[in-house]
Amino acid sequence: MSSVLRSCMLHHLQPLRIMGARMLTLERVGFAPIRSHELKDPVPPDLLTFKDPRAFQSKSWWELIRALGVFRLCSYPVLVNNCGKLMSFSRAVLGKRVFAMVLRPFVYAQFVAGETESEIAVSMEKMNSLGLHPMLAVPIEEDLGESSGEKRYDDNLAAMLECVRMSHSNAWSKDPMMQLKITALVSAELCVKLTSLLKKQHYDLDLLVRAMDREDITFPGLSETENTHFLLGLNRLNQIGEASVNKVRVLVDAEYTYMNPALSLVTMAMMKKFNRDSAWIWNTYQCYLKESRDLVLDAIRLSVDQSFCLGVKLVRGAYMDKEKKLAKKEGREDPINQSWEHTNNSYNGSLEVMLNLISQQPDRYKIIVATHNEESVRKAVTWMTELGIARDGGSVCFGQLLGMCDHVSLTLAQQGFSVYKSVPYGSVDDTLPYLVRRAQENRTVLQGIRKERDLLKQELRRRVREKITRSK
Ligand SMILES: Cc1cc2nc3c(=O)[nH]c(=O)nc-3n(C[C@H](O)[C@H](O)[C@H](O)COP(=O)(O)OP(=O)(O)OC[C@H]3O[C@@H](n4cnc5c(N)ncnc54)[C@H](O)[C@@H]3O)c2cc1C
Repeated sequence: MSSVLRSCMLHHLQPLRIMGARMLTLERVGFAPIRSHELKDPVPPDLLTFKDPRAFQSKSWWELIRALGVFRLCSYPVLVNNCGKLMSFSRAVLGKRVFAMVLRPFVYAQFVAGETESEIAVSMEKMNSLGLHPMLAVPIEEDLGESSGEKRYDDNLAAMLECVRMSHSNAWSKDPMMQLKITALVSAELCVKLTSLLKKQHYDLDLLVRAMDREDITFPGLSETENTHFLLGLNRLNQIGEASVNKVRVLVDAEYTYMNPALSLVTMAMMKKFNRDSAWIWNTYQCYLKESRDLVLDAIRLSVDQSFCLGVKLVRGAYMDKEKKLAKKEGREDPINQSWEHTNNSYNGSLEVMLNLISQQPDRYKIIVATHNEESVRKAVTWMTELGIARDGGSVCFGQLLGMCDHVSLTLAQQGFSVYKSVPYGSVDDTLPYLVRRAQENRTVLQGIRKERDLLKQELRRRVREKITRSK
């Protein structure tokens, strides 16, 4: 289909879809709105079983069928494990345009908000009307051997700054967040080198802050070329910080252990500069790591010593298989916890530490419980009530990926919690590597998504019954 034709069709469709989105509210999909005095009551335990199919009343027939189809496909390990190869093969056979046309209404529409700002606005308006907040994510994937010259990083910076603008300048953007990958702005190779240097020497946060302020710093251990690239990278990060402070909370992603210490170093420097009065820059902690609890405690100590507010994105972690393989290959100790149960304990332990701090200083500490795990969500909700933490105060938020676990997200939103959906956007071509990596990272979640499939089926059956009854 030509792009002109596609854009004509979009113009034709958008008003209808926006109208549909405006008409949607939590009340219309069958949930009673929560009143302000009820926000302090414990959440009814039956709601925390997340078995309420009403969450899916907001979906059109097509969205229900598409979600069922996509989740069914994702339940086959062979398809998820080889989705990268399968997609490359299909793209080669069908050609770029036909492949995009085939993918767009299915997998792409399930997990991606759209390509143009108006397409994204349609998805965001719908989310907003259902009480969900946006966390936009520019789908940039960089790893070792994938990085190139400064121009590429400057282009990535322009995309990130556009993401900051879009996140805060629209009617749908209330208390927005966005995700940031440091390796989109500083080369993965340099992050690896810095990580190995950090084992031997200490880098003062003030030094990094001065470099962000364009002072010509020479960092020990780096060659002249590396130093120049680091200064340019810090300057790019500084531009993101300046554009987002007081407008958008920027959540820095955690990546692989061979570069995470460097990512944390620059993130902490950004926090020191931009988080004086409130947490605008947040760091991510991966609880599948044996050292995750120590890392969270170190961050808390550092935030006290250096007087900045701390924002924490708590995740289980996305790169387990690669981390394990690499450790085995290099004959190192496996950095990953010995079992899923250990990871769960670690997640819940760090969650408890953060919630205790937040109950005492909600202005200085923030957390996003970024998980699809219902047990962790239940624990967070229960502890928040016990500790008297406001559901809608913004110090504790919940996060899930777009297109996944809507039954959890919508139930929490209906109960007055702050819930964010991580929302990638871009063309089919741009989002493809992102989708492939996310599918592989979330393999266990996707393959165990039986409950969501059951709820989708219940909602479909309910609609069919309703149609039959009406037609009688
Ligand atoms: C908003 C958002 C932002 C995110 N940002 C990041 C990020 O910056 N960096 C990142 O790495 N991930 C990130 N993630 C991805 C997140 O780590 C995955 O969604 C997560 O791995 C799935 O965990 P879960 O808690 O949702 O589900 P669960 O199904 O409860 O947990 C599955 C996870 O448990 C861990 N696990 C499974 N088996 C074992 C085992 N045998 N031993 C030890 N651990 C095990 C793995 O981490 C696995 O992915 C983000 C997720 C969301 C929703």
